[in-house]
Amino acid sequence: MKNISRRSFNNKLSKGIGGAALLSGMPWACAMDDQKQEKKKLGIALVGLGSYSTYQLAPSLLDCELCYLAGIVTGTPEKEKIWQDKYKIPDASIYNYENFDNIISNDSIDIVYVVLPNSMHSDFSIRAAKAGKHVICEKPMAVSVEECDAIIEACNKANVKLSVGYRLHSEPYTQEIKRLVDEKVFGNVQYISAEAAYRSGANPDQWRLNKALSGGGALMNMGVYAIQSAIYGTGENPISVCAQEFSTRPDYFKDTDETITAQFEFSSGAFGNIMTSHNTNVNRMFASCDKGWFELSPASSYGPLAGKTSGGDLSFPHERQQKLQMDDFARHILNDTPNVAPGEMGKRDMIIVEAIYESIEKGNSKIDLKLGAMGL
Ligand code: NAD
Repeated sequence: MKNISRRSFNNKLSKGIGGAALLSGMPWACAMDDQKQEKKKLGIALVGLGSYSTYQLAPSLLDCELCYLAGIVTGTPEKEKIWQDKYKIPDASIYNYENFDNIISNDSIDIVYVVLPNSMHSDFSIRAAKAGKHVICEKPMAVSVEECDAIIEACNKANVKLSVGYRLHSEPYTQEIKRLVDEKVFGNVQYISAEAAYRSGANPDQWRLNKALSGGGALMNMGVYAIQSAIYGTGENPISVCAQEFSTRPDYFKDTDETITAQFEFSSGAFGNIMTSHNTNVNRMFASCDKGWFELSPASSYGPLAGKTSGGDLSFPHERQQKLQMDDFARHILNDTPNVAPGEMGKRDMIIVEAIYESIEKGNSKIDLKLGAMGL
């Protein structure tokens, strides 16, 4: 009871008052810092108990230092008891898609993590925000820029934090690439290439092959990783894109894109090429700079990743990326550290995704992008 009251108080404080600037100078600011330190782990509710929740997120939550699996939201009643027993989840923290909004009165849930098919992300993220919960929304953030805007607006209105499930921003090889770029260790990036692809041959009725549920094919699913690599591998947002689509198995990929390539231009003069596919296995990023090169291969798998540079190999200890990601978001909520994968980043990537589809529709024409520093 004592902890619940403190949690509610902290929640109200972070939602109602906000900025540390307001707090500093107040006599009880130090006491609040102490309370933050003492605060129990933040409770996360997973919405959608499919393969990513089952095999990656829930096991990672067992290792998290700042958050834990406090609740579940599922449309499959048979899963309730299995998850409840395995993760010691109380009856009061088990929801289905219909009664999900009752989560508003559950003080043990601080964060809702939406892990559903892409077309359901915006609905559940907005409902979570309206229930006063911080939100992690899986990638791709939504199936349109309009939906990304609606999620961001709902979170801003409810004064809750929002993050996209871009686990690589908490992962050490990716951090190192960002450092190499920021500090120009190998000079200016001149060319970047990024591929994120796997061969799909499973159930032809899966939601990823159904445009109404996925919003698109390889580009929506894996393409966002290649787009991300091109951006953190240059440190810039692209200023234009030109794209091509390839289809070799139209009987299987009836409704969604199979393979897409796209070329980016950057304002520094760098240029690059990305490839994404549901028809072939590649996972890599490579950058050629004026004083050397660097690469990650694999670049976006669950790890361990591996990296080489013209100055030697990269080597970092492996931890579950999802553990690092969820702890980073909890730290952002608790201690106001930077949000490493904010909603604006998910929206920026969706702007690029829409521009790529537009380029293909317009016969591979070049589409200008005016992203400024969005999501960097
Ligand atoms: P999945 O198919 O294994 O699970 C989907 C879940 O949604 C299931 O529990 C299913 O019952 C539920 N669901 C509810 N309504 C549904 C409907 N109409 N059709 C199909 N399923 C429905 O998928 P997943 O691999 O767990 O992916 C879920 C989300 O997580 C996707 O947005 C995906 O892009 C994302 N994801 C992210 C990563 C990552 O590395 N960040 C990895 C895998 C998946």
